[in-house]
Amino acid sequence: MDANIELKVKKVLAGLGINKKEKILVALSGGKDSSVTAYLLKKFGYNIEGFHIDLGMGDYSKNCLNAVKQLCEELEIKLHLYNIKEEMGGSMCYIRTSIQTSSGKGLKNCAICGVIKKWIMNKEARNLKVSKIATGHNLDDETQTFLMNMMKGSPQLSANSGAVTRNVKDRKFISRIKPLFYIAEEDIREYSKAKKLPVVYDKCPCALDSYRIQMRKFVNTLTAKEKENVMKNFEKLFPRIQKLKSEEKLNYCKICGEPSRNKICRMCELVKK
Ligand code: SF4
Ligand SMILES: [Zn+2]
Repeated sequence: MDANIELKVKKVLAGLGINKKEKILVALSGGKDSSVTAYLLKKFGYNIEGFHIDLGMGDYSKNCLNAVKQLCEELEIKLHLYNIKEEMGGSMCYIRTSIQTSSGKGLKNCAICGVIKKWIMNKEARNLKVSKIATGHNLDDETQTFLMNMMKGSPQLSANSGAVTRNVKDRKFISRIKPLFYIAEEDIREYSKAKKLPVVYDKCPCALDSYRIQMRKFVNTLTAKEKENVMKNFEKLFPRIQKLKSEEKLNYCKICGEPSRNKICRMCELVKK
């Protein structure tokens, strides 16, 4: 099992053509997926540093921070910390609730949190002069997202996904890689336990997205092979999916200057700076 996972990840990484000297920032949450991502990149000799956003969500965040610190010590990698309370004036729960109250649109917790985390990550990664960000997205996450987009009738929303983000190249946009793209969640859990990695296995207390939860339940009924097949078919359909999306032109947000498809980026739209 271990050798199988390692082989698959090696293959994905080889396909991304990464130079082992270039610096990769691993987005560490304290969970199993990002911890295994860092462990494997280090094991395969890549030049990595860790990045963790302390979301200030009580004991859960404290446990995640401790796990990330321990992992970076064990892997002997540098850790960069971003404390959301200090940098943005409130915990993720506080920021999210303010947005939900003022927008009145019933925005989902993870949708808001995801936009904010991506915005922070891109900006900080650029400041740290890394060439790529590695995240722990796994086969289950990717299968859920692809199927959700298909069922919403919007396959074009998957047009930038893949083991490497396929957005338009831009000097301000740091591309993201997903080394665990073809590894099933259950296998990652077992691997993290076998390697005794310091990991928080509890679910995030704010993970509320009813559609994704429904899709997760369905994807959990599939075998690893079936999930792999869904994503292999996604790869086959990819050229056609790309044709569905409107031509992508990257602008810079008029408020914060970050790369954005629109004049104002999603982060600034949410926080109404
Ligand atoms: S599960 Fe959702 S709310 Fe929790 S950290 Fe992840 S994106 Fe944020
Ligand atoms: Zn902006």
